[in-house]
Amino acid sequence: MNNAEHKGERLSRQRETILAELRKVTSHPTADEVYVMVRKILPRISLGTVYRNLDFLSGKGVVLRLGGAGTQKRFDGNPAAHPHLRCSVCGRVDDLEHPLDLPDLPLKQSMGYSALRCDVEFVGICPMCAGKDS
Ligand SMILES: [Zn+2]
Ligand SMILES: [Zn+2]
Repeated sequence: MNNAEHKGERLSRQRETILAELRKVTSHPTADEVYVMVRKILPRISLGTVYRNLDFLSGKGVVLRLGGAGTQKRFDGNPAAHPHLRCSVCGRVDDLEHPLDLPDLPLKQSMGYSALRCDVEFVGICPMCAGKDS
């Protein structure tokens, strides 16, 4: 923890900027990509600060963190449950344009869990990657 951590005003400005930039895009950027976006506005922000704020925001449910073990974490400024398409070649993630009805977990089948949301991710090959081989 450095001194900057205790300057609450600056911290919230950084967090607000990160959130605002993330909400502008639908590209589901990685933390590194968010860092590049935010640095245009706050040139002195550090990558560590971006990581910590993204962790904080996803912990609060303000943003979504996508990707499981072995894939790079991507962030989504839209925290509502919505289906995603992920390219297994380049890792790109898109929102599905046509909304799907997401399944409700029947209480009897919840095994004691209270389900918060349902993440649906279709894995495939994006048009860019599909076009590369031809
Ligand atoms: Zn791809
Ligand atoms: Zn999304």
